[in-house]
Amino acid sequence: MMNQLNFSGGPGVLPAAVLAQTQQALAAVPEVGLSVLGISHRSDWFAEVIAETERNFQTLLNLPPSHAVLFLQGGASLQFSMIPMLLLRQRQQTADYLCTGYWSSKAIPPAQLEGDVRIIWNGQPSGFHHLPTPAELTFNPEAAYLHYVSNETVEGLQFHDVLGLDSVIRVCDMSSDMLSRPIDVERFDLIYAHAQKNLGPAGVTVVIIRRSLLEHAPNNLPEMLDYRAHLAAHSIYNTPPVFAIYVTLLVTRWLLNEIGGLAQMDALNQHKAAVLYRVIDESAGFYCGWATVAAQRSLMNVTFTLPNAELNTEFLRQATARGLSGLTGHRSLGGIRASIYNAMTIEAVMALSNFMREFARR
Ligand SMILES: *Cc1c(COP(=O)(O)O)cnc(C)c1O
Repeated sequence: MMNQLNFSGGPGVLPAAVLAQTQQALAAVPEVGLSVLGISHRSDWFAEVIAETERNFQTLLNLPPSHAVLFLQGGASLQFSMIPMLLLRQRQQTADYLCTGYWSSKAIPPAQLEGDVRIIWNGQPSGFHHLPTPAELTFNPEAAYLHYVSNETVEGLQFHDVLGLDSVIRVCDMSSDMLSRPIDVERFDLIYAHAQKNLGPAGVTVVIIRRSLLEHAPNNLPEMLDYRAHLAAHSIYNTPPVFAIYVTLLVTRWLLNEIGGLAQMDALNQHKAAVLYRVIDESAGFYCGWATVAAQRSLMNVTFTLPNAELNTEFLRQATARGLSGLTGHRSLGGIRASIYNAMTIEAVMALSNFMREFARR
């Protein structure tokens, strides 16, 4: 089972060059002479790891000084609580939430514990096969904030435009597409992404927050759940996930030095997705895309079904035998999901597309 190509939805594929550097760092980080698993988070070396990772996010995303970069724990799921604790607790306002798939619907109950939530669009009755069109959305100009998920990882649906009103705080879960394409960060007040889909290994969550949001934080937050504590401590409030942050640093270096930035990454990602969607579109209905609107298809997670459960099982069996791993759809949906995050190579995508064509023909 060596050298399987990794189409896993998460934790996902990492660049081969980063894995090689990680392997070396497990033995000894070259500039320190100690294993990355045994270096103090209070060392000068780690302070510089945090500083460089922060700088790399600033460079890649063209971050303005108004925004801070934090490295937190608890996954994207803890952000589902930390965000309403900061922005909704003790407020008279309601928060606008979009319910467009598995992950955005998970974000809603924790917010309801903190205040009033208005679901401004709900895709559940139609089975999460498409996203709203701009005409279907009426945003509340008095809302405490708007929350949405830019890429629904499970269903394979992605917004390709920024949603909401610029006058209302805009919060976005970018767990599965952060650093996959350029974004206009100035228009967002808080974006977050755990690392394990597109940024690095599990254990660290990147939060980019407009500093001014912290001026009106409620005074009854536990320190660990207060962004101000993490900002003041430069993301070393308590013991951080040193390993996960270090590997995330290596990934940002790879994006800067090997790929050349997010515009280049976006072009590669568009190309990879186009290859797979073309196979689906040319299969005369053998492969049925989950997303019903082509313009809303995800560039990160390509989801589709086969004509019946037996063929689905046979597809997965033969794919695995060919070294194509991680294609099983999310347990809530079934079907097939090919996750083609930043580190997925075009060669691997070609191997999958060749297999798909051949399987359909046979
Ligand atoms: C996977 C995922 C999550 C959940 O992340 P955890 O780190 O497991 O809490 C949240 N949002 C999106 C968009 C995801 O893809």
